[in-house]
Amino acid sequence: MTNRILLGCIADDFTGATDLANNLVRAGMRVVQTIGVPEGPLDAAADAVVVALKSRTIPAFEAVIQSSAALDWLQSQGARQIYFKYCSTFDSTAHGNIGPVTEALMDALDTDFTIATPAFPDNQRTVFKGHLFVGDVLLSDSGMRNHPLTPMTDANLVRVMQAQCRRKVGLVDYKVVAAGPEAITRRFAELRAEGVGIAIVDALGNEDLLRLGPALKDMPLVTAGSGVAIALPANFGLAPSAAAAELPRASGMSAIVSGSCSVATNRQVQEFISAGGRALALEPLRIAAGEPVAQQALAWAEPLLAQGPVLVYSTAEVQAVKAVQGRLGVAQAGALVERALAEVARGLVEVGVRRLVVAGGETSGACVQALGVSQMQIGPQIDPGVPWCHARTAAGAPIHLALKSGNFGSDDFFTKAFGMLA
Ligand code: ADP
Repeated sequence: MTNRILLGCIADDFTGATDLANNLVRAGMRVVQTIGVPEGPLDAAADAVVVALKSRTIPAFEAVIQSSAALDWLQSQGARQIYFKYCSTFDSTAHGNIGPVTEALMDALDTDFTIATPAFPDNQRTVFKGHLFVGDVLLSDSGMRNHPLTPMTDANLVRVMQAQCRRKVGLVDYKVVAAGPEAITRRFAELRAEGVGIAIVDALGNEDLLRLGPALKDMPLVTAGSGVAIALPANFGLAPSAAAAELPRASGMSAIVSGSCSVATNRQVQEFISAGGRALALEPLRIAAGEPVAQQALAWAEPLLAQGPVLVYSTAEVQAVKAVQGRLGVAQAGALVERALAEVARGLVEVGVRRLVVAGGETSGACVQALGVSQMQIGPQIDPGVPWCHARTAAGAPIHLALKSGNFGSDDFFTKAFGMLA
C-alpha cells in the first residue's frame, strides 16, 4: 500500500526542517524528514514530509533547481499542499533565495497567490505592519544585522521580499488578521484583484496564526517560518494526538556525541559529568597531530556501554576553542573535529548503540551523513525544537536519534532524553 501524503514541505536548511517537523507533529501530523530529495519511497507512513535542503545561501538558481526537484518528488507522493519553510529571521540576500524559490514554486504549481510570514511567536519572532521583530527589537537592530552570510539590515518584509521578486508584494496587516479567517480571506481576494502575488502576513501571537490557518486551506503553496505549521493540520481534519509522535520501541545501548561549544551545551556536558556520567573529551590538537583519537574513544567506550550512556565530546569553553582555532584555523578545526566525532558515532552504532544524542548543528549533519541516514520519522519533543527521531542507517540498523542544535535544551537534556525512551 502506498502512502499518500497531505502536506509536502521544502526546508532551506537541516535544523530548520526539524523545527518545522516538530511543530507539525505537535499539531497532530505524522512526519518524516528526509535529508535531501529521497531516491526511493518513504520508510514510514506519514501525513507530512519535510525535505531538508541546504539551499539558504547557495546561488539562487541552484536553490530553485533543488527546490523544484523536491516539489516534483513531494507531488509524486500525493502532497495536496506545499509549504516552503525558511528561517524565522527571513535569512536571505538581495538576490534571494526566498523570493526566487517562492516564485519558482508558484510557477510550477500554476498559482498566482501565496503568503510569506516568518512569524514564530513561540520563538519571539513577530510581524507587525510588515515589520519583523526579533524579541523586542526590529530585525535590522538585532544580531542578524551582522550575520556573515545573510546580513538583514531592513526589517520591512514587504520591501525585502519585493527586492527579490518579479510579482507584486502586499500586506495583510494585524487588524485584518485580528478580525478572523473570513476577513483574511477577503483581504487575500482584494490583494489578488490589485495584482499582488505574495502577501506578507502580520502575526503577533499564536492566536493570529490560528486565525490565519483556515484562510490557507485551499492555497496550493504556503511560504513561512515554522510558526504557521501549528495551524495547518486542522485544515486536514487532524488534531493534536500522542499517536502522531509515536515511534517504534527503543532498544539497544545509549550514547551522546557532542561537538557543540555553545553555552547551553557546555552546561549540559558539565551537568552530565557531575551527575556521575561517564565521559571522554576529544582533544582537537591530538586529532590534528594524526593520533587515532576516534579509535581510542571507541576502545574506551565499548566496555562501558552495557552500564549506561557514555558521552564523547569536544565541547569546550570559548577560550579553549579560540586557542585551537588560532592554531588550526576555524574551518580546519571544525572539519577535523566533525570528522572525528562522526567516526565515533558510526563506531558506536557498529557496536550496538541504538539511542544516540548528537549535540551541535554541524556535528549532527556530519554524524547523520556518516551513518548514512537519509530519512527520519519525527517523534515526541524532548525540549522545544528537539524531538526524538527514528531512522535506519545505511547498514540497516534501526536507531533513535536526537539531534540538538547548539543553544537548545535544558541543563539535564541528556538524561531527560534517555529517560523519555526508557
Ligand atoms: P552549534 O550547534 O552549537 O553551533 P555545531 O556542531 O554546529 O554546534 O558547531 C560547532 C563547531 O565547532 C563544529 O564545526 C565543531 O567541529 C567545532 N568544534 C567542536 N569542538 C571544538 C573545539 N574543542 N575546538 C574547536 N572547534 C571545535
